[in-house]
Amino acid sequence: MKTAHPYQNPQNPVETRVDDLMQRMTLEEKVGQLMQVNGQNREEALEKLDSQHAGSFLQIRWDWLADFIEAASKTRLGIPLILGNDCIHGFSFWKDATILPTQLAAACSWNTDLMEQGARITAEEMVHSGCSWTFSPVLCITRDLRWGRVGETFGEDPYLIGEFAAAMISGYQGEDLSAENAVLACAKHYAGYSETLGGRDASEAELSRRKLKSFFLPPFQRAVEAGVGTFMTGYQAIDGQPSTANRWLLRETLKDEWGFDGFLVTDWNNVGHMVENQKVCRDYTEAAKVAMEAGNDMIMTTPDFYQGCLDAVNSGQLDIKWVDDAVRRILRYKFKLGLFENPRMPDLPKVDERKQAPAHREVALKMARESAVLLENNGVLPIQSGQVKKIAVLGPNADDHLAQLGDWSLGSGQAIKNSEHNKEAVVTLLDGIQNHFDGEVLYEKGCEILSDATDGIEAAVNAAQQADLAVVVLGDCKGLMGEWLSTATLELQGPQLQLLQAVRDTGVKTVVVLVHSKPSILPAVVTEADAVVELFNPGIRGGDAFAEILTGQTNPSGKLTVSVPRHIGQCPVFYNQVRGQHGDRYADLTQAPLYPFGYGKSYNTYRYENARLKQAQLGLQDHVEVSVDVTNEGDYDGYEIVQAYISDLYTSATWPLKELKGYARVKLAPGATETVHIRIPVSACSIVTVDGERIVEPGEFQCLVGASSRDEDLVALDFIVLPTPS
Ligand code: BGC
Repeated sequence: MKTAHPYQNPQNPVETRVDDLMQRMTLEEKVGQLMQVNGQNREEALEKLDSQHAGSFLQIRWDWLADFIEAASKTRLGIPLILGNDCIHGFSFWKDATILPTQLAAACSWNTDLMEQGARITAEEMVHSGCSWTFSPVLCITRDLRWGRVGETFGEDPYLIGEFAAAMISGYQGEDLSAENAVLACAKHYAGYSETLGGRDASEAELSRRKLKSFFLPPFQRAVEAGVGTFMTGYQAIDGQPSTANRWLLRETLKDEWGFDGFLVTDWNNVGHMVENQKVCRDYTEAAKVAMEAGNDMIMTTPDFYQGCLDAVNSGQLDIKWVDDAVRRILRYKFKLGLFENPRMPDLPKVDERKQAPAHREVALKMARESAVLLENNGVLPIQSGQVKKIAVLGPNADDHLAQLGDWSLGSGQAIKNSEHNKEAVVTLLDGIQNHFDGEVLYEKGCEILSDATDGIEAAVNAAQQADLAVVVLGDCKGLMGEWLSTATLELQGPQLQLLQAVRDTGVKTVVVLVHSKPSILPAVVTEADAVVELFNPGIRGGDAFAEILTGQTNPSGKLTVSVPRHIGQCPVFYNQVRGQHGDRYADLTQAPLYPFGYGKSYNTYRYENARLKQAQLGLQDHVEVSVDVTNEGDYDGYEIVQAYISDLYTSATWPLKELKGYARVKLAPGATETVHIRIPVSACSIVTVDGERIVEPGEFQCLVGASSRDEDLVALDFIVLPTPS
């Protein structure tokens, strides 16, 4: 077929097509490409295709998408739409899609292959819906646990966040964005959004540039290296400057220094926010100028940006080159996604067919299995067949499918509203136990999380008295998690602890299971139970995964990527604190967390021996090569996550005592010994100087290798970095 214009010819290189299309576009059409419109109101949104030439929509109901795509194809230049949604742990807002563990849960597996597979199946489920852009992964660093969005993060460690995000990006985008199963990923929220004051959502973040460079930016730089196509900014301001206006962050660092060739979308109405709430711009013309000069490309849900930007250009306040640069970036990715050839017209029956594909459900199960963290166990787990004949399954989250799926999921209230996943599509903890345990199962909810009523406790106690084992599932729920929903405390809400105490008072052996969006404070009534299993939000197969752990079919291997405090007053409690404070305790409490970063038990014990370095004198181009022999002293097959931290003993500026720089996840049969090798580039043993430069400072270092971040779990090995090659 003869194509009319060079931009329509797929044989032409992307840049040629972009150039050709750009010179055909009016200013209005260009500004339209910058517009991302809220698709929740069909008529209003469709109208923006005409009146504002809108190039992108988000959160359109699935059954409307085809009309939007069709309408865009009939516009003057036929520029296809790019349609986005928050498919952040599975194809979240599609009814009964394969909802995976949340990032915080999945992170505890430390299994990047599995995270990549999770993102891949999400893409496969999304791709026939018409939506080709997911606002995932989240690269925010968990700091203050009161923040409502902790469950969306990978936890508190910058290195892990970078690695896990890279895995998800590769799962979503694949090798070729135009391939049938690829979708565009989005690294968010750039940057420092999680450094909230008092955990308050989107509050001003206390961050210096040096602190950003030290901890917050490295995961994002890793995402650029992994080829992520888009970035999203954060809501907050840093040092008086909204992210939307931060030219150093957006243009100079991301685009100029790191060479990011994709496009940057603001968060929801960030540009309007500068006028309406932050009040740093007088009107939308000024806000458009500020946003474009700073380096934003696509503007999410600020309808007034359209006229503001036209006025800013037409009055000479805004140089058209900034608009052109942004449009080019967006078009480049529309071409790379192949949208001009294949606008991804929805095939909704196909999405339905894929959503419960056995292979997808299997990935969800594997992820849930490997995400579970065994916090305590006095030998009650796994249960021995014949010894436990009757189990009482108790607690508000034992059979609550929406609490189990967590935030950003149909039923959690965002994106696609007034609908929820069917309970039958989810294996709750109760279902899982009923499926896997061949004895009798009693069930009592016992109490609610959001009500103080205690009248259900008696029935739960009765059930516990009849049983050989009680499984008590506690946690949080919708209303206590997510954006705008930070919490003042981390206590288990409602009469949950009262329920647990009453069950434990019966003398029955008790396993506590935690299904919640983020760590809770766990008093003795929890930690002194016979076993405690942390699941966070384990997704649709969470119940199967737990039941396998209960019965010994699966040996838990997850390790925490977030420190669990003893008391809210210890926050922020992350392990990689900067050294130099007076002492290491509060007058009334230790500063040590209840469970440290990197911690997790198994049904086995693992013996670590012969930790050694291949070389103790290294040049700047070398690698720290650490080995350790790990023996499985238990009776089960198991995975152990071996961790390697670096400590730079003297630094020109204050720096964390230790930082994770490598790890290995090894499978060990009973009695087996494996020599585990971890390689860390010396270039990664860097600090950020007071001048904001990231460098390796030659001198004395330690590599600390072991089972968790806690000092007693680590062996320290000295090495020296020489200023010249060794
Ligand atoms: C959130 C983003 C999300 C966007 C679109 C915002 O409020 O902060 O994470 O991608 O909404 O739903």
